[in-house]
Amino acid sequence: MTSAPRKIVIIGGGVAGLCAGVYAQLCGYPALILEQHSIPGGLATSWERGGYTFETCLHWFLGSSPTGALGAQWREVFDVDRLRFVQEAEYQRIETEDGRSLIVYADVDRMEAELLRAAPEDSDEIKAFAAAIRQSADFPMDEMSAAWPRRAMAMLRLLPKLPLLQRWSGISAADYGRRFKNDLLRRLFTDGAAADMAAIALVFMFAWMTQRNAGYAIGGAKAIIDPIAERFRALGGELRLMTQVKEILVEDDAAVGVELSSGEIIRADWVISGADGRATIYDMLHGEYCNEAIDTFYERQKVFPSYLQVSLGVARDLSREPGFVARMLSTPLRIDPETELKTLSVRFFHFDPTFAPKGKTAVTCFLPTFNYRYWVDLHRTDPAKYEDEKRRIAEAVIAVLERRLPGIRQSIEVTDVSTPATVVRFTGNWKGSMEGFLPTPDTGFAPRRQTLPGLDRFLMVGQWVHPGGGLPSGLMTARAALQAICRREHAPFLLAASARDPRADAA
Ligand SMILES: Cc1cc2nc3c(=O)[nH]c(=O)nc-3n(C[C@H](O)[C@H](O)[C@H](O)COP(=O)(O)OP(=O)(O)OC[C@H]3O[C@@H](n4cnc5c(N)ncnc54)[C@H](O)[C@@H]3O)c2cc1C
Repeated sequence: MTSAPRKIVIIGGGVAGLCAGVYAQLCGYPALILEQHSIPGGLATSWERGGYTFETCLHWFLGSSPTGALGAQWREVFDVDRLRFVQEAEYQRIETEDGRSLIVYADVDRMEAELLRAAPEDSDEIKAFAAAIRQSADFPMDEMSAAWPRRAMAMLRLLPKLPLLQRWSGISAADYGRRFKNDLLRRLFTDGAAADMAAIALVFMFAWMTQRNAGYAIGGAKAIIDPIAERFRALGGELRLMTQVKEILVEDDAAVGVELSSGEIIRADWVISGADGRATIYDMLHGEYCNEAIDTFYERQKVFPSYLQVSLGVARDLSREPGFVARMLSTPLRIDPETELKTLSVRFFHFDPTFAPKGKTAVTCFLPTFNYRYWVDLHRTDPAKYEDEKRRIAEAVIAVLERRLPGIRQSIEVTDVSTPATVVRFTGNWKGSMEGFLPTPDTGFAPRRQTLPGLDRFLMVGQWVHPGGGLPSGLMTARAALQAICRREHAPFLLAASARDPRADAA
């Protein structure tokens, strides 16, 4: 490295931008994170209303096992061992409005036994699904976005598993689900927000849950984001909030800094974007550094949906309810002109005592939609109708809950509705997507290039370069970005000894 420290500017203070900031500081690069919102976290967030906290992101934190490889990577960035994890025995309860239900356990042995009992007509497929989960137990996910020699070694170790991977990557969850005769079980695969996703994603999810490597962290996403932001600051990094980047500045085909919406110019030796992929490539860089493959991918590749969230503060102890319910509706719920939901996903957050006063419960309902445009336009052009629509949907959701838990309506003391317009406004994500590109049977989970053709000293991190998204995509792409910068600058990666134990910084 040269004697003058090389400065890195990072666009976006979501999990990816924050992790990139920590790695930059650890490697000796002064980093400045620019975040447009008033708090860091991006999609990994929650909000407080009337004494309740409403979580939007965290279902499971991949890397929660103290012995897993991904946990070790998280430990480089923050003190993950301080988190308290809950591993709910039930992953999901699937219910009908006429009183039938199916328990889907998180542990594969329990799950298989219960599904075989409840749906003996599907025994062959249940056993095949459970076998795939067991075989995926040691899949080295954390190494898939590592530098090529490590990735190549991981691929070699994976060779015996290739038939398994091919079988489950080549079919979407929805197509796979149609093989089941039991209608409740079929819904586990066909009804989720990401039914077009390759079925292998579900196999992995259950494998991680079985290994107790996908726990829920008490405090939700904020319990993860806040310590990463604190670590970044403790290492000397600067996080500027309410600071929106308008343009990435380029000289001689190398990124040299950014221009803010305020007109301020900030120069840097490297620019990393952890902001939305489409906005980065086509707005901040005016589409000048892409190629046909990138254009085609952005035109054609499916993304995870956007969503509305109806959040309720209920003055009632709901700890006897399952944590996560998929309620199959007798009458579909119309969300917007293009969207009708046949299932309502409900989370009863009784397992997180930090989210509601004692004896009360925070409840959230997730309503996916691909029609983000309707909500964004309505918010802009007709605020009164936008508010009416939010009220209509809250009322419809409460009516569903009232049928399940008679009298709940009287106990609701807080109602909050967010829409795709909220997601777009606060995170800038393309189409209000909750998780970036869908890993479909065509694309799989293969990470995308973090560089852009012809542009030097620039890298992308986060969910838009890692189909499948999720918090680990931020960690892994941030790590890979700093490895690439260190390689290029002939500097050692993870220079600071404190990288091995974040608590060393606090001492
Ligand atoms: C409902 C829901 C459930 C989820 N469940 C899980 C789960 O259980 N487990 C899991 O691992 N993941 C989950 N995820 C996914 C996970 O939250 C995301 O994939 C991850 O947080 C994305 O992080 P990111 O940093 O790549 O992007 P983002 O979070 O989108 O961060 C990008 C940041 O850049 C900022 N930004 C954008 N443009 C600009 C600009 N021009 N200037 C300055 N700043 C800018 C934004 O404000 C934002 O803060 C869930 C997401 C949702 C919505």
